[in-house]
Amino acid sequence: MENLNIVPFVSVDNMMKLVLHLGPERVMTDLAGYIEADFRRWQSFDKTPRVASHSEVGVIELMPTSDGEMYGFKYVNGHPKNTKEGLQTVTAFGLLAEVNTGYPILLTEMTILTALRTAAMSALAARHLAPKGATVMAMIGNGAQAEFQALAFKAICGVNEVRLYDIDPAATAKCVRNLAGSGLALTACKTAEEAMEGAGIITTCTADKQCATILTDNMVGTGVHINAVGGDCPGKTELHRDILLRSSIFVEYPPQTRIEGEIQQLDPDHPVTELWQVITGAATGRSDPRQITLFDSVGFAIEDFSALRYIHDQLKALPYSEPLDMIADPDDPRDLYGMLLRAKAKAA
Ligand code: NAD
Repeated sequence: MENLNIVPFVSVDNMMKLVLHLGPERVMTDLAGYIEADFRRWQSFDKTPRVASHSEVGVIELMPTSDGEMYGFKYVNGHPKNTKEGLQTVTAFGLLAEVNTGYPILLTEMTILTALRTAAMSALAARHLAPKGATVMAMIGNGAQAEFQALAFKAICGVNEVRLYDIDPAATAKCVRNLAGSGLALTACKTAEEAMEGAGIITTCTADKQCATILTDNMVGTGVHINAVGGDCPGKTELHRDILLRSSIFVEYPPQTRIEGEIQQLDPDHPVTELWQVITGAATGRSDPRQITLFDSVGFAIEDFSALRYIHDQLKALPYSEPLDMIADPDDPRDLYGMLLRAKAKAA
């Protein structure tokens, strides 16, 4: 029997080794497959909007779900001011447990894994919604998530050109440097409008703790797909409301997106389509070449569950974890205090 008292732990170092061993594009393609498989069995999951604790400067969130066999949660923060202090906007870690015993079976860093799963989710949505043959993407906001987004769209949607814009040119220069040699044609742009020239897919991935207007209505032509990633908290959006009114809107889990997504700007009964239904074929995705499709991404617990499940499966063949002495295991399960006394006697 597996030793359930020792929990495999994936450190940042080991996550990097795992991702570099498999290659980021393969990992994101695999993750998109895991997310798609879990979205197809949407009904088998416990679902709840994430539990958010807001402060003046950011948010700390817990994202739990279960499919009845496994339970997973992610701890994640969002602090747009952090980068000015040399810290990241988003950091995360997560845990997977077996429902049968309640014992954890994986503890892992999820800062890198969140960037990978968010990009995989974005590209999966675009594969169902973006105009056919779209190969050019505008990437507005060139921070921590940006390269992952660009590479996922290359691997999963066939994007071959990315037009980059950030209010901070140093962020754009970093992206161009990091993506050199990726096979993507890259253009550093001076404005969001310039970045959007000829782009069939527009990704917004900025961080600002306010209702920002990264895109105004007149900037968005017909027939494009918008992948709106950065608006993911009450009072934190990226798109002008008029764009939403012209778009067909696709979401992960409406009760959470109504609170956190771009659609917090709309009436609570404004129609939206759940992405899992597009994936299963129960709802239509893009139906007209002139339609504007909008994926109002906020990040949902099932995507993290898929990512945890993926890492857990990879560890069956790959050595990128270390054993963590995390669960107390007295010889007699009811003698927890005795275990403490025996440790005291041993130490004396
Ligand atoms: P980051 O702070 O590393 O990067 C954000 C970038 O946006 C910065 O380079 C900043 O200069 C730029 N920016 C800010 N305002 C801008 C503007 N008006 N125009 C152009 N660029 C602008 O943050 P990150 O880790 O890359 O995350 C980006 C956003 O995505 C955050 O808001 C985060 O909360 C969100 N996020 C969403 C999901 C999801 O699942 N939807 C997952 C992870 C992160």
